[in-house]
Formats: sequence, structure tokens, C-alpha cells
Amino acid sequence: MPRRKIALIEIQQETNSFSPLLTTLKEFEWSFLKYGDDILPEAKTSKFQTGGFYKAMTEYGRNTVELVPIICAWAQSGGPLSEDTFAHFKAVIEHSLIQHPDLAGIWLSLHGAMGVQSMTDPEGNLLEWLRERVGNEIPIGVPLDLHANVTQRMVKHATFISAYHTNPHRDHFQTGYKSGKVLIDTVLGKAKPTMAFRKMRLLKGGGYTIDFLQPMRAIFRRMRQMEKIPGVLSVANFPCHIWLDEPELGWSTVVVTNNNPILADQLAKELANLNWSVRKIAHPQPVTPESAIEKVKQAKFRRLVGTAILCDVSDIVSAGAPGENTHLIRAILEQAPSLVSYTSIRDAQVAQMAFDQPEGSWLKATIGGKLEPRFNRSLDFEGKVIRKFESQLTGKVVVLQHEGTHIVVSENPNPVMKPQFYQDLGLNLWKADLVTVKNLFPFRYHFLKYNRLTINVLSAGTTNVDVHQLDYKYIPRPIFPLDGIESW
Ligand SMILES: [Zn+2]
Repeated sequence: MPRRKIALIEIQQETNSFSPLLTTLKEFEWSFLKYGDDILPEAKTSKFQTGGFYKAMTEYGRNTVELVPIICAWAQSGGPLSEDTFAHFKAVIEHSLIQHPDLAGIWLSLHGAMGVQSMTDPEGNLLEWLRERVGNEIPIGVPLDLHANVTQRMVKHATFISAYHTNPHRDHFQTGYKSGKVLIDTVLGKAKPTMAFRKMRLLKGGGYTIDFLQPMRAIFRRMRQMEKIPGVLSVANFPCHIWLDEPELGWSTVVVTNNNPILADQLAKELANLNWSVRKIAHPQPVTPESAIEKVKQAKFRRLVGTAILCDVSDIVSAGAPGENTHLIRAILEQAPSLVSYTSIRDAQVAQMAFDQPEGSWLKATIGGKLEPRFNRSLDFEGKVIRKFESQLTGKVVVLQHEGTHIVVSENPNPVMKPQFYQDLGLNLWKADLVTVKNLFPFRYHFLKYNRLTINVLSAGTTNVDVHQLDYKYIPRPIFPLDGIESW
């Protein structure tokens, strides 16, 4: 029997609807953008979804299926995609579909919280558009990020939807592998996925949904138990990305069984009830920049044996914020200039200007607050250029130092996921009193070795974790916690 062709399509970006900056092909090129066979070297070695899917295709599906790589596109979180960028992706896919009219399946790896300029539910739109082209018989398997906003249209047109089981996310590869296996079985007629979906009028997020901490730990554990029930192909729980302003925004659950709709329905409902039951458990409350610095100053022993990590929750680059918030740096300069601090800020103009200066020279600059002036003011700073660095992802990067304050100014936004970000610039974490990061979850384990005190700092910006302060225009109402409702 000839091998059945399965297409690989991956388009991943998490949109912050409140960011004024559109995401274009340039932002995808910073991270990853490849077409056709150029995807293969990455797929063979990737620790992410494509790597898992590639393994399923080449090992589990050996001799039965054949891979047709079409597109693999990743961008950091940011503002909505421009219409042109989305149209470009569709044109690439359309061209490949014409070249391969004999596809037997499509692996469509999406984020699930991607926005496009002047459009609602673009990923539902993409699925519907694909269905119109390939018909209803071809299975389309859709692995998503756990922060996806699953919509009715996505459920209608996908054959099955699955997702990560961890937050912070650590199972990208397994998610790619498992979704690949289910898709191969479906293509070969060994499985018949049936999906059940529940949507909750629930908006909580931002530090509340870590899989190994309460209140979500028991729910994630139950989800993993459910996946072991015979006939269950996938169980997914989606505590959504709260910075996506969409008409169907809300938490959801999706359960896929092998042709057992009653079981799928029961489990999807059980999981939704579990989520709803913990909705009133309070978030850890972030503090102001001023009190964060005071806490760091008081934590003398902890600083001696490590460092304090200040999470800039109003400017979370990994959730789509521009990365140019000055509130925290201003508080450091005013209250603790002699503490050894490492902070990161995006400012393309200053990074380019400082990059042309020799190391050791002094520079006066007005930093940050330029892309979102409604949220913060630019900061006047005079410092010594002590290090320079350049890469595709970060652009030009310069470290400016004055007394203990080290400001890392970069051309592109930086989430500061790992200590290597500072270490590669010659900044020693053991010598730091405080460092700032612009991601909500991954720093918690990447910085574990050095971190003696985590403080979430709230100022102003596009990733405010307080949903009451977000400027939503399109979300459904009523919704918890904005409205007092007793049922999801
Ligand atoms: Zn996520």
C-alpha cells in the first residue's frame, strides 16, 4: 500500500490585543520562519511540537505515512498579526495544497490565542478556510498551547484538538508526538476521534494556573488520570490567555475519545466543573515597584546567598507586552542605586546608538516609554557601555552601567526566560542583589538555582494581571470575575 501523505503546518503566535504594535513577517523571522523541506533540519532536532510530530511520523508511522512539510512559523508574543502577514501564510498553504492534492491528513499546530488585525477568531477562520479546500474527509489534528482560546468554529472544523499538560510549558515535544500518533491512527483508519467541548465564562489568569501549585494541581492531576481511561485519546484544559480581546474569550475544556461521545462529554463537563469550583481562590497579589524595592533591601540574607527576582507583570514580553516599561528601573534608581541590579528594557534607538560606542565610553540616553507613552515615561540615564552583543532574536544589545545599576538595552523585546540572558553579557547572577524578568512562568524554574525571593511587581502596561483594569471591548459578558455569576 502506498504511504499516506500528512502535511505539517505550524503557525504560532500569542497575541496581546492591547499592544499597539502589529506582528509582521519580520517578527516571525526573528524567531523561526521556514518553508517546505527547509523545515526538516529543525524538525529532526527540535524539542518542540515539530520535533515530537516528526518522531511520530518517522518512527510510529514508519512505512505507512509520508511527511509533507509546508510551513513552520514562530513569533514571540506581541500585538495582532497584520492582515498581510496572515494572507501570506494562507497563500503559502494554498500553493502547497495545489501541489499535493492527495493529502490524507493535516497536522495543524497553532497557538490558539493568535489575533489578526480587523478579524475575530483568525485560527477558526484558518480551519474553516482549510476545510473548504480539503473537504470533510481529511482529518485535521490541531495541537494547541494551553493558553488557547478555543472557539466553536475551531471545534467544528478540527478533527481533534489537544494541548500541553503543563504550565509553565515543558511538554511541547510530547504534545507534538501524541497528536502525531492520533493523527496517523486516524489517517490509517485505526481511530475515530470524537470531541466534546465546554466553554466557561471564566477569565482568571496571570500566575493563577501553574500546574504544580494549588489550586490547579489537583485539576491537572485529574486530567492526566482521565487520559489513562481506555478509549480516551486526549484531554485538554485551557485556562485562556486573558490579554486576547475576543468575542468568545474564556476558559475551555476539550476531550477527545475514540468514537465514544458520551464519555468525552462526561469528562469535558467534569473538568469544567473542577475549574469553576476553584474560581474564587485568590491570586497572589503583586506589589508596587516602590514596595518591591523595599522588600529587596530588607532581604539582606537572601541577597547574600542568591538574588531576588522581580517579575515585571505589567510588561510581560512573553505575553505580548512591548518590553519598555520604566517604572521598575525608575524605582531602582531612586531607592537602591547601589544595589547590584540587572534589568532589561527594549529601546531600539538607544541600543543602535550605544552599539556604535566603544566599550568603556559613557553615554547619556533617554530610555523606554516610547512605544506606549500612555503607560510610562521615558527615563534619563547616564551610564558606561560595558558590554555589547548581537543576535537574530535580540537584535543589538548593550549593557549600560552606573554604580550597581546595570540596564540591558536591546533592539528587540526580551522576555528574559533564562539566566543565560544576563550571563552571556558577562553579568554574574551570584553577585546580583536583584534581577528583573518579563515572563510570568518559565523564570520560576530556569532561575531556581539563584532565586531566593520572587516578587511580582505591578505598575502599568498591556499585561496588567488585574482583569478589572483591562480595556476589553469584545469579550462576552457576563463573565467571572468581572460579573457576579454563579454558573459557567
Ligand atoms: Zn501558553
